[in-house]
Amino acid sequence: MEQGSSLVKIANKKTALVTGGAGFIGSHLIDSLLAEGATVVCLDSLLTGREKNLRHLQREARFDLIQADIIDALPRTVARTAFTHVYNLACAASPPHYQADPEHTMLTNVVGTRNLLRLAEEKKARFLLTSTSEVYGDPEVHPQPESYRGWVSCTGPRACYDEGKRAAETLTFDYQRMRRADVRVARIFNTYGPRMRPDDGRVVSNVICQALAGDDITVYGDGSQTRSFCYVSDLVAGLMRLMDSDVTDGPVNLGNPVELTVSDLVERVVRMTGSTSRIVNRPLPVDDPRRRKPNIERAKALLGWEPRVALQQGLEATAAWFAEEQAEARPAERE
Ligand code: UDP
Repeated sequence: MEQGSSLVKIANKKTALVTGGAGFIGSHLIDSLLAEGATVVCLDSLLTGREKNLRHLQREARFDLIQADIIDALPRTVARTAFTHVYNLACAASPPHYQADPEHTMLTNVVGTRNLLRLAEEKKARFLLTSTSEVYGDPEVHPQPESYRGWVSCTGPRACYDEGKRAAETLTFDYQRMRRADVRVARIFNTYGPRMRPDDGRVVSNVICQALAGDDITVYGDGSQTRSFCYVSDLVAGLMRLMDSDVTDGPVNLGNPVELTVSDLVERVVRMTGSTSRIVNRPLPVDDPRRRKPNIERAKALLGWEPRVALQQGLEATAAWFAEEQAEARPAERE
């Protein structure tokens, strides 16, 4: 019995910093790390992250939330903690949100990532950067493998995010080359699930919320552009596998390779929810990629990872969650 409890202690010595942990993906990652027995500190500016995503952890002794921006000097409590793992998920990720303050988006990726790399160096902690499929821009190679260098505009409205993440990857691998940090980089493709913001502005959250409320469903352009959507539990499993792996020699795509057009997605959601909403077309945003689909051979081979949750199953769980959110929000709106 005695021996058993000390073993538990050894197994649980993982102390993780999760930046952006109050966000959609970050909060699910924190749940999984805690379930694994880790101690977790979440650092979040709460600019797009929401405290309510972590409300269920209020009484959790192995969890702490600190409100701070990774652009600034890290809070003293963070500097004093012996982190073994640093997960950097801090950055607005939805186009309308990251374009609202492009300077802040760029600095979050460059200055913020540098602050966290320095922390990882000092603590000798493993560092994982969440990069993005946006580094491929509007791709000419389909599906996109990690070796594809991308087709990104450095002057367009998406550049603050795309180029910010590309610079963050550069800095991260420079720290690896200089042997200053032990790093992993994930390139995350479109992800969906419970805890997305209803006002996130992305296609999955918009279409489900509009369908449930009976509002017009907004299709940007003619709806023929494609995306590939990964359910959040699959994505989090991939992030944790990558962190625990020894894949330090380059980025790894994490996403679901099942590709569909925006119109197909809308049709599915309308059928699933029995919605009577009208479908309306809006202008296609500038630099909106025509198509996107991950090549996940590297993740399969090196991490033994691939998504398990089928789109229908994931969309149903997400729609059920948004329905609850809308029911909760209604009385407050009437006040
Ligand atoms: N989109 C759409 N209607 C919406 C929101 C987005 O048709 O209400 C389109 C958008 O133009 C893009 C695709 O859906 O072609 C995915 O957009 P999202 O913002 O979800 O992700 P990203 O563009 O970053 O992949």
